[in-house]
Amino acid sequence: MTEHASLAEHVDVLIVGAGPTGLALGVDLARRGVDALVVERGEGLSPGSRGKGLQPRTMEVFDDLGVLDAILAAGGDYPVGMVWQNGERVAEQNMFDPAETNEDSPYGAPWMVPQWRTQEILRSRLDELGGRVSFGGEVTGIAQDADGVTVEFASGAPVRARYAVAADGGRSVIRRALGIGMTGETVDPNPILVADTRITGLDRDNWHIFPPRGDEGFLAICPLAGTEDFQVVAQLLDDSAPDLSLDGVRKLVAARSHLAPEDVTEVRWASDFRPRAALADRFQQGRVFLAGDAAHVHSPAGGQGLNTSVQDAYNLGWKLGAVLRGEAPASLLDTYEEERRPNAAEMLGLSTKVHRGEARRGEATRQLGIGYRESSLTEETRAASDGLRAGDRAPNRTIAGVRLLDAFRGPHWTLLALGTAAPAGGDSDAVRVVAGPPTEPYGTGLFLVRPDGYLGWAGDTESGLAKYTERFNLGRPTGS
Ligand SMILES: Cc1cc2nc3c(=O)[nH]c(=O)nc-3n(C[C@H](O)[C@H](O)[C@H](O)COP(=O)(O)OP(=O)(O)OC[C@H]3O[C@@H](n4cnc5c(N)ncnc54)[C@H](O)[C@@H]3O)c2cc1C
Repeated sequence: MTEHASLAEHVDVLIVGAGPTGLALGVDLARRGVDALVVERGEGLSPGSRGKGLQPRTMEVFDDLGVLDAILAAGGDYPVGMVWQNGERVAEQNMFDPAETNEDSPYGAPWMVPQWRTQEILRSRLDELGGRVSFGGEVTGIAQDADGVTVEFASGAPVRARYAVAADGGRSVIRRALGIGMTGETVDPNPILVADTRITGLDRDNWHIFPPRGDEGFLAICPLAGTEDFQVVAQLLDDSAPDLSLDGVRKLVAARSHLAPEDVTEVRWASDFRPRAALADRFQQGRVFLAGDAAHVHSPAGGQGLNTSVQDAYNLGWKLGAVLRGEAPASLLDTYEEERRPNAAEMLGLSTKVHRGEARRGEATRQLGIGYRESSLTEETRAASDGLRAGDRAPNRTIAGVRLLDAFRGPHWTLLALGTAAPAGGDSDAVRVVAGPPTEPYGTGLFLVRPDGYLGWAGDTESGLAKYTERFNLGRPTGS
């Protein structure tokens, strides 16, 4: 563990917060050779199973970041919901719409990994790549000028960086210091208690649901994959501070289920929150970017918070890398807010609808449909069609024996030449070329896939492609 006092005085990117957002961004930047430092106020990673549902799109991102095997080994499928009444099992309830697993989406359904474990896995990948996390450093303020950012700490010397990323959670100090507002609503005025517990007397094959009764809120007890813990989630209907002690959790569980208080043998972590849906008014101010919960807070109901946060990191990582390596102008960074803010707004709306029972956990919550068709980075040069368009996620296929998710893995772009000649030159460090026959849903043509797996450009002509790639000087530093 790095001591805060020994921090470097200057880094290219300072990431504030070692939650899933900060760690995912740290991993992405480390593999791009960017000098980044993650600073975390805690003495270690934060505990708690919180965001335990990894959506299929996040699994694809984790594949690219090199943590998929560890994530698969650490987790499991969601169990079927079991509804209880008066100590009897009365109904089974599927928490998610059925999902197909196929070549297009190899990870069909959400995969359960407690958030603390996901963070550990990202942290160890960061270590493996030589990235740095510094614990025990609480950021208190930030100032910026034309050349960089100065980040202040509660103790120790300030750190200077070319860019800073606020991945410091829903109560972001940096967002407040920058005066960026958060607009939104309380989704549910009732607090929710969440606790990681050990419980006897319940099977681990079901997510146990105890519907609301009389003046009590709901209780749900989910076995946490890869552990012996159960996650207890309980809606509280009064405004008094929840009792997070073992005794308090025992009383709550016993009052709302057939379990005896002593069946709860341990509370390993507990917290409470009020579900809110809110979006930061801006995701960027000068050289500072907001990402993850610092930029948007969701109701946990749709399982979108952590996943949307990882998508932010993934969108920002390659852009920071390209600008810092001199391969793209700094204006590329403006597309982070342009692309991610509308997307986060959509995911927020969806989370709130799921919370209110107005939408299912289904196709949209899997995040495979996320795209950037309207982005200024997207160029579709083919005649309009109903199929795959530039801006869409590049779906997996096997082309001439090459599985696209394997070809995409790494910090490069990928050019697909389907039923048409690939431009001369072949593979470079910046662009990998996959050539093959026309392939649905791509069809025929040239398709340039961004480092984050979205179609940046689609067309038929080499000259059109060359014009697009000039914007990025792929592999040829501009020195700007
Ligand atoms: C009960 C519950 C269930 C949830 N379920 C899901 C789910 O199923 N699926 C899902 O996708 N999401 C879920 N979420 C949401 C998910 O937990 C968050 O979206 C996720 O943690 C956001 O990650 P983050 O890295 O942006 O922020 P955080 O995880 O909050 O991390 C921020 C980090 O910054 C550090 N920090 C804060 N301030 C400072 C400072 N001044 N200086 C230095 N460090 C600082 C904090 O200590 C923390 O480690 C759930 C949340 C809760 C509460």
